[in-house]
Amino acid sequence: MKIKKKNKKKFKRKKLQMTNLNFDNTDEFEDREIIEEKRAEKKTLEKGKISQKSQLNLKKGRILEISSNYRCRVKIESSETICSLSGRLKQINFETRNIISVGDFVNVDISDEPRIEEILSRKNILSRFSEDSFQTQIILASNVSQVVITSSIKEPVLNLGLIDRFLCSTTINEINPIICINKIDLATNLSELEEELLFYRKNNFEVILTSAVEKIGISEMKNILKNNDTAFVGHSGTGKSSLLNCIQPNLNLQVAKISETSQKGTHTTSSAKLIEWDFGGYLVDTPGIKTFGLHREDSIKLPRIFPGFSSLVDKCKFNNCTHTHEIGCAVKVAVENGNFAEARYESYLRILESLNRKSE
Ligand code: GDP
Ligand code: ZN
Repeated sequence: MKIKKKNKKKFKRKKLQMTNLNFDNTDEFEDREIIEEKRAEKKTLEKGKISQKSQLNLKKGRILEISSNYRCRVKIESSETICSLSGRLKQINFETRNIISVGDFVNVDISDEPRIEEILSRKNILSRFSEDSFQTQIILASNVSQVVITSSIKEPVLNLGLIDRFLCSTTINEINPIICINKIDLATNLSELEEELLFYRKNNFEVILTSAVEKIGISEMKNILKNNDTAFVGHSGTGKSSLLNCIQPNLNLQVAKISETSQKGTHTTSSAKLIEWDFGGYLVDTPGIKTFGLHREDSIKLPRIFPGFSSLVDKCKFNNCTHTHEIGCAVKVAVENGNFAEARYESYLRILESLNRKSE
């Protein structure tokens, strides 16, 4: 009898997992624990939904900038509107700072004072992690279609390791990367550079060579940016601002922060904003961003997603191969045979080690 009851419970549990969303008739379930749990879950979901009772006049928009107290500049149709955030949304996840983000698509009730009533699901996010041991995720922007990873050929010196790191981030975050090598007017040996970049081109990454000084690659860059939402990342000094000024001279980029006291209430607390290009699409301006998100837990994903590894990993003897010490590792064989750039493999090892160090 006892066993039978146990089985019954098991069965109910399974059924609940498969059909878990309709709880109008909860009487048929015996497992109180699960029912309570699911009720709680449903409640949270309902909180996020718009109240059906009130008379709302909703319009879809996109958050361009967020100021203090969740005041948002939102693009609705062709105009910009300052909107507040509904108290109900503020309540959700009040413990996190990530309720809304620049780039979010939202539904705004415009029947009265414009108010954001709903945040539509995000396609992807650009985030970084806090430096402390908690590695809290801080969302910089959402719904970003591509990232231009900028490095300069000189001053500062070409940093392919950083490009690799950004490529891992963009893969994990499902954002299309474009590699931009700037200051090619300073190049003394272009064919040497091309040889180094061949690895990326072979692995189907888009690579563009530019010079902000000699206006090289600017129209090609414009074509890439047109009708996309793009963030520029890379070390300072590589020429991002200079490139942006070539692309659109009238850009009103945030250069330095004005002191908090002189701004009284209306100042921007989030540094990110979306700036519309004259030719269509947005620049995702995130001044604070040097490196964006690799979390220590990404070390588990890294062996599969590092640039160029995807065609090799399935040939490794162990499917959780880290390509460091394992026997029968196809990556190591490829490196030894000269079929995989040794410098890139070493770059992989450095990134892996830095992530493992974080988790110590
Ligand atoms: P950011 O920190 O990435 O925004 O870099 P900036 O745009 O401020 O540029 C840093 C320095 O590099 C400035 O002195 C620029 O004049 C210089 N610079 C930018 N682009 C180029 C370029 O294409 N060629 C050369 N030779 N110098 C450049
Ligand atoms: Zn391997």
